[in-house]
This record gives sequence, C-alpha cells and structure tokens, in this order.
Amino acid sequence: MVFEATGRVGGRQRSSELGGTIVEEGAVFFGKQYPNLWRRIRAAGLEGELKTYHAMRMRTLEAQRAGTTCRPRSRVTTTQLAALRRVLPRREKVKLVQMTAEILPRGGELRAMLGNEVSSKWLRRLDAVPAAHWLEAKVGPRFTESFASPIMESLSFADASEWSALGALMLMTFSATPRLHAIVGGNDRIAAAIAEPLEVRTGTSITAISPDPGGVGVEADDGSRSFTSRFNDVVVAVPGPVAASLLHGELAEVVSCIRYSSSVVPAIVTDSPLDVPAVSFYEADSSNHISGLAVERPCADGPILCFANVRSPLREELIDADDDRALDVLSDTVERATGVRPIPKASKVIRWRHSIPVGEPGMLQHQARIRGLVGGVPHLELAGDYLVSPSQEGALVSGARAAAALIERG
Ligand SMILES: Cc1cc2nc3c(=O)[nH]c(=O)nc-3n(C[C@H](O)[C@H](O)[C@H](O)COP(=O)(O)OP(=O)(O)OC[C@H]3O[C@@H](n4cnc5c(N)ncnc54)[C@H](O)[C@@H]3O)c2cc1C
Repeated sequence: MVFEATGRVGGRQRSSELGGTIVEEGAVFFGKQYPNLWRRIRAAGLEGELKTYHAMRMRTLEAQRAGTTCRPRSRVTTTQLAALRRVLPRREKVKLVQMTAEILPRGGELRAMLGNEVSSKWLRRLDAVPAAHWLEAKVGPRFTESFASPIMESLSFADASEWSALGALMLMTFSATPRLHAIVGGNDRIAAAIAEPLEVRTGTSITAISPDPGGVGVEADDGSRSFTSRFNDVVVAVPGPVAASLLHGELAEVVSCIRYSSSVVPAIVTDSPLDVPAVSFYEADSSNHISGLAVERPCADGPILCFANVRSPLREELIDADDDRALDVLSDTVERATGVRPIPKASKVIRWRHSIPVGEPGMLQHQARIRGLVGGVPHLELAGDYLVSPSQEGALVSGARAAAALIERG
C-alpha cells in the first residue's frame, strides 16, 4: 500500500504538457550510469521510447566576460576544456591537465558512486573537502569562478560553494556523460509503470508515524477525513525535511540537517527559432540572474522549448513571486544573447521548494549516521535521494535498500 500526498505518483519525476510539447518539470535526463532505472525502463517496456540527447550537439557558451564563445568538437567535456584553454593562464592550464589526469582513470568509481555505496578511499576523502577549496587548490581561483561555479549551479540549483568535492564530481560525472536520455511523452511514465501493480492512495498525506515493537501506526489525511492504519513495516520515502517532521527524537534531528536547494525554472514555448546555443552556462556576475539556459526542439517542425535556472539570491525572492517576474528574467536573457525578445505562445514557472539535497561536505558520514539510527527503529526504514545521491537512480537505490533492510530484519 502506498500513500501519496498529491494526485499523482512520481514526485520530482514530473512531466507536463506546455504549448504542444512536454516539459520535464523535475528530473530531466538519465544516463547509462543508472542501472536500476534502466531495469525499470526495460520492465515497463519503455526502452523503445527513449529520446536521446547527444552531448556533442550541445553547445556551451562559456566565459562571457572574456568574450569567448565556443562550439563543441566532440563531447561536452572537450567543449568545456576548449573554453577553459582560452580563459585560464598557462600555469592553471597545466594544473587542470594534471587534475584531469588524476580523475579520468577513476571514471568507473565516479560513475558507480551515483547509485552505490562510496567505497573508494579517494572519493571518501573528497567528502570532507568543500568543492570550491578543492578546485581552487587543484587548478586556481579563475577556474572556480569562471567555469566550475556556473556549471555546478545549473546542475545543482545550488551555490557551488555549498557542495563537497565529492558532490561536485558526482554532478560533473553526470554532465560529462556523452549521451543522456529521457522518455518520449514524459519521464514520469517510468514512475507510473512502477506504481501500476501497487495499491496507491493518491491525495493522502501521512501526518504522523508511530513505530513500536509490534509494527507501525500511520496517521493520514485524505482531504475528507483523518484516519490511522497499522502496518507490519513502513518505508518513509519523502524528501528529508518532510521525513524529519514525521520522525521523532535524534533521528528526526539528524534528518532535519539535510538541506535542500530550491529551484525556480521559467519555461516558454515559442514558434520562432531562437539562435542561442542549446545549453548555455553563464558566469556568475551581478547582471546575470540565470546559471543555465536550455533550448530544445523535440520535433523538426514543432515548437521550441526554452527554460532557464534562476540563480540565487533572486531565486529565493522569486519562489513566492508571481510568474511574470521569473518569465521576464528568461526573456531578458534570451534577448541579451540574440538581440530578439522571444514571443511565447505558452509559458509556466516551475518551482520546487525542495529541489535536490545539497551534497555538503560530510554528506557520506551524515547518510551513514541516518542509516545507523533508523536501523535501531523497529519496522521502519527511510528512502529518498538524500540517502544515496540526488538523482532518480539514487532514489531507486535507496528504496531497494530500505526494502531489503526490512526483509533482513524480519
Ligand atoms: C528541477 C529538477 C531537475 C532534476 N533533474 C534531474 C536529472 O536530470 N536527472 C536525475 O537523475 N535527477 C534529477 N533531479 C533529481 C530527481 O528528480 C530526484 O532526486 C528524485 O526524483 C527524488 O526522488 P525521491 O523519491 O527521493 O523524492 P520525490 O520524488 O520528492 O518523492 C517523494 C514523494 O513523497 C510525496 N510526499 C511528500 N510528503 C508526503 C506526505 N506527508 N505523505 C504522503 N506523501 C508525501 C511527494 O508528493 C512525492 O511524490 C532533478 C530534480 C529537480 C527538482
């Protein structure tokens, strides 16, 4: 039995129709490094319905301040390095090459950590180091300012300075994947397929959880009434802050320390071509309020979808503001890049108060502490991206682990 607060399953895997095209409001892409998600896709018969994004067709507009625009030759990573070559002084370029040489042979470890326990000592050490310090020590301040920060912000919807080097590598590994995929008609078809054989009560919010040695009491509200049910075992699979509000004692306290970034993503659909690179990252400067701009034309003659990630601190201001302001930020950015203000035929602003958990320094220890504490609560387990990695794969792995732990505990 699944209790789901909203009217649909999928959570942050949420797709909607806008102006004749599909907008991914939450999880946008997945790559081959998500074995559990692929198994689900195959089981749901969705393998034949993949959209593929070739990183080589993505373009990176980098180092605006330096006035450089770069076009990729092969992969995003190559593109980014090409942009850096123009921006960085020689000494930092050498250090960058050294860092790349250190990281590249560890590609397997990096990919594995997206959905697995991090076992490599090298990665565990990086858990303790703030990303900005690590990158600055490895390459130099220009690198962190002109490159790492906007890329990370656009991926994480967070300020790069908050992430650990481990978290940063996790995000960069994802972005450097040559091919990314989505499901035609919306990624949330995967969640719908997973939920199909289950008994799901949508529109039903859990309001309290009371585990005891014999089972778990669950209080819920379906909008018309509040009721209590009792179960042998329960997995609480909600974002950290919600979980913290349902739990008690030290476990609630530790889970409440997981911070999530918010996100505000204005999106427009237009019929007129937009001459901006498919994916652009912008440097952090006071005149620029977005960290990433994406343009997609799903069908050759179809409408064009354009969306952007509003950066902090404006993001915090716009999370509760009316849509017009966020949409203006997007139109201003496109106008600056192309000289032409886009004419939207449809628009929306996607907001997430809990977008993704911030991979702060000490994240691994924190996750281990939560697992240790929840292991001491009878008949209860936790699941969610905050326990593994901020991704669809992380969420799936956490759920499978929670179920296995309950079975093991009997
Ligand atoms: C804008 C955005 C872009 C992203 N892009 C990517 C990407 O490209 N690739 C990728 O892999 N990941 C991406 N992610 C991350 C990914 O979407 C999440 O990590 C993952 O979906 C989290 O799954 P979850 O099950 O942990 O939590 P959720 O998906 O948040 O699921 C929690 C569920 O619990 C329900 N709930 C909450 N409170 C209650 C309650 N009291 N009672 C009952 N039900 C409740 C919620 O309604 C929700 O359905 C993105 C996320 C966002 C927001």
